[in-house]
Amino acid sequence: MPTNALPSPDSPSGEPGIVRKVSYVSLGCPKALVDSERIITRLRAEGYELTRTHAGADLVLVNTCGFLDSAKAESLAAIGEAMAENGKVVVTGCMGAEPDAITERFPNVLAVTGPQQYESVMEAVHRAAPPAHAPFVDLVPPQGIKLTPRHYAYLKISEGCNNRCSFCIIPKLRGDLVSRPAADVLREAEKLVAAGVKELLVISQDTSAYGVDLKYAASVWRDREVRAKFLDLSSALGEFGVWVRLHYVYPYPHVDEVIPLMAEGRVLPYLDIPFQHGATSVLQRMRRPGAQEKTLQRIARWRELCPDIALRSTFIVGFPGETEQEFEELLAWLDEASLDRVGCFKYEPVKGAPANDLGAAVPDDVKEERWHRFMQRQQAISARRLKRKIGTRQQVIIDAIEGGIARGRSKADAPEIDGSVHVVSRRPLRVGEIATVKIERADAYDLHGTAVGF
Ligand code: SF4
Repeated sequence: MPTNALPSPDSPSGEPGIVRKVSYVSLGCPKALVDSERIITRLRAEGYELTRTHAGADLVLVNTCGFLDSAKAESLAAIGEAMAENGKVVVTGCMGAEPDAITERFPNVLAVTGPQQYESVMEAVHRAAPPAHAPFVDLVPPQGIKLTPRHYAYLKISEGCNNRCSFCIIPKLRGDLVSRPAADVLREAEKLVAAGVKELLVISQDTSAYGVDLKYAASVWRDREVRAKFLDLSSALGEFGVWVRLHYVYPYPHVDEVIPLMAEGRVLPYLDIPFQHGATSVLQRMRRPGAQEKTLQRIARWRELCPDIALRSTFIVGFPGETEQEFEELLAWLDEASLDRVGCFKYEPVKGAPANDLGAAVPDDVKEERWHRFMQRQQAISARRLKRKIGTRQQVIIDAIEGGIARGRSKADAPEIDGSVHVVSRRPLRVGEIATVKIERADAYDLHGTAVGF
């Protein structure tokens, strides 16, 4: 059967002969990227061809992000560009939860669907550019289509969130926590590993809450039962023998249970925990766990159990009502916690977030000034922690080769958000390979070294 026997553009039911082309824009966080991958996998399964340019495509799909006002503005700009260059546009993703904001600006978009509404997206595509009668499933590799490089992949274990952080509208957009059964996640992981993936990046809105909605129900995986529980799933993923990195872990006490898995080398010694602030009073207004003194003790304990653990976090400065004293508390906490990698956002009043009414808005110039002070303080901490790696040997996964120098990441660096390791090597390295690298130099964010062991 010819794989290009696809629908004609004029036939509503889709006749053989013409390949339909879809151009795709994916904005937002890794969770949105996973949604994009699912949609693209479906499109490819039905014989659509993906194209990088809007002009000449049968339609453009825009997966939007609606978390912050700046993300909304970026989404609207992407829709505007797609309308100007093509004119047939389907919008999906977080901003789709507020269709009026889109249709007021762009009344001629073909359809607006919300996050994870895969069926509605496919219906809109079918209406605008009908598919072939029979889907050509064999166009799709069993692991689906990945938008990330082949050697790493995001693994989404749940949707939605049961927390109600006052600055966040994600539960409103995406609903309460819905976890995938453990066997389902493990089957996907198995396919990815079989396809050559060397690093699995576990994501969700709240990874440590995994399975709460399922009451931790077990499902059958390779003749045994695996509970839908953070610890059990992490342990089972560790059996694939690839790097497993845990993202978006909420600081619940039971997170402590996975640290021994890290010490044993089953999952990467890396925790991405958005702490958001260091002052208990601000955390209370944020409606997040507030015992930061205890958190410091827990961090110290994690480091005792697993000295190599890398801690990444994000913070918000300029939260409504944040006083200079609260900000100073945050800086002091930061010094004490001595985290490896840190991101910082200036508070933005997201429409519909309760936080907007919880205190006086911090003026923009104060937010800006605090952000700089915060970044300066953390930069010194990160640089100090990186420096300790000089002279050590690190496993480095190679992401790219640029001008004869390989760029990769150590176990302490997640793609996109953390630093890199720049590697010189006598033998040419390949993308996706894991090399042993002797670290010779460190700068504010990155490490530099030479591949050894051959
Ligand atoms: S845990 Fe994350 S997704 Fe859930 S409400 Fe808080 S910030 Fe939003």
